[in-house]
Amino acid sequence: EAGYKDIVCFEKGDRLGGTWRDNRYPGLSCDVPSHWYSYSFELNPNWSHRFSYGPEIAAYLDSVAEKYDVKRDIRFNTGVTDLTYVAPQWRLKTEQGQEEYFDLVVAATGVLVNPAYPNIKGLDSFAGEKWHTARWRDDVSLKGKRVGIIGTGSTSCQIVGAIAEEVGHISVFQRTPQWLAPLPQLTYSKPWQFLLKHVPGLQYGVRLWQRWFMEQTFVKATMGNKFHQRLVEWTCRRQLQTQITDPELRAKLTPDYKATCKRLIFCSTFYPALMRDNASLVTEGIDEITPEGVRTKDGELHELDVLLLATGFNPTDFILPTKVTGEQGQDLGESWQGSPRAHRALTVPGFPNFFMLQGPTGVFGNTSLIDLAEYQVGYMISCIDQMREEGAAVIAPKQEAFDSYNAAMSKDIGKTIWATGGCDSWYLDASGQANLYPWHPRQYREEMRSPRFEEYRLEPAVVTAAE
Ligand code: NAP
Repeated sequence: EAGYKDIVCFEKGDRLGGTWRDNRYPGLSCDVPSHWYSYSFELNPNWSHRFSYGPEIAAYLDSVAEKYDVKRDIRFNTGVTDLTYVAPQWRLKTEQGQEEYFDLVVAATGVLVNPAYPNIKGLDSFAGEKWHTARWRDDVSLKGKRVGIIGTGSTSCQIVGAIAEEVGHISVFQRTPQWLAPLPQLTYSKPWQFLLKHVPGLQYGVRLWQRWFMEQTFVKATMGNKFHQRLVEWTCRRQLQTQITDPELRAKLTPDYKATCKRLIFCSTFYPALMRDNASLVTEGIDEITPEGVRTKDGELHELDVLLLATGFNPTDFILPTKVTGEQGQDLGESWQGSPRAHRALTVPGFPNFFMLQGPTGVFGNTSLIDLAEYQVGYMISCIDQMREEGAAVIAPKQEAFDSYNAAMSKDIGKTIWATGGCDSWYLDASGQANLYPWHPRQYREEMRSPRFEEYRLEPAVVTAAE
């Protein structure tokens, strides 16, 4: 729509959907409200629930791609292995060994993509079936089986709630208790969907309301607002108190750090599942995995038929493990060293004509990544328009702009609950700093709306003899 027609989209999967294609576990749903988790230009009055289930989101994303006829630009089953800047273009190599040149590259590769496997002694010796939750096995039934699940993050909570009734026994291996806020799920009625469809502006209003509500409460809590912090923690404690009636179990489930320090979980089915006779919460700590099951540090062997690894992702990879080589021959992964940084979460000095969607230090957490992507795409298009206006072939952030932006960020991230809340989480990168945006998302939207081109090198093409 912005007028740039010569586009190729490389997709390593055989379908669209990203996280909603890769994750297919029972209970999969989104804890960001549906209308906010929709494109502003393609609102959906037909959402069936206030918090959508995975397949409905995947179908929505696919229908948007169909409607705007963008699938014709997508090469499926084509992973990108290598990107090298050959001024003023990028040489791109695919898994199939194809090589092509592009003026600009956008890495829309996601954040929670590469599964993290736990480093536990004997993991491979397990004789039953085991898999990571992001690689769900539909060919193995859990009915009546002794199932173990390692981890108690958002994924595990949704799975445990969904499968507890069906399995023979479920053992939940918890390393650190988490704060769980109730998920105020709601089935949308037909009359409500009718109103959304026919009352002008209503859908957009609901979308704005959902964003405003989430940002007013949870975002403020993470930014150190004591009132909102206490309110969130109180809400979580109340759910724990009412749903877990056994005081010993409740004590095991009570975190010793501040709520929203780790990404807040919204789930109302996990605690009731743990109260079932066929469920046990194991907090002793895992010593090793044996062919029969999981042995905990107290020497007890928890015999299992199936072991589920709900152990999260390697979030600081971003575009990696694709090899990205910049204008001085520098390697992006080596320059990041596990602590990725970018200018306004989008660009990196020394890597011209390269943009990341949902890149390092972006607005993650309890927020809509669909909304975020729209703002970032708007910024990117402004940059490309500016290149066209100035007749530039190269755009890259200036080192000093990148340095001052990141210095301000590092200073203020220390004030957030992610740094002061007393927990370890996937938000923290190798430097120990939370790899997140420390300010209110409103400010980020403002940054995206008005690019400051003085922060960038905009240069005409320089033809070098070597190339
Ligand atoms: P996660 O939040 O990173 O949780 C991983 C869990 O595995 C934690 O409980 C962790 O314990 C445990 N763990 C990791 N390694 C372990 C080991 N070696 N031994 C024992 N326990 C181990 O991963 P996730 O649940 O997949 O969620 C990741 C993110 O995906 C979420 O934070 C959220 O952003 C997103 N998500 C969103 C939704 C949604 O509804 N929108 C649903 C699912 C996921 P520790 O806490 O002790 O490290």
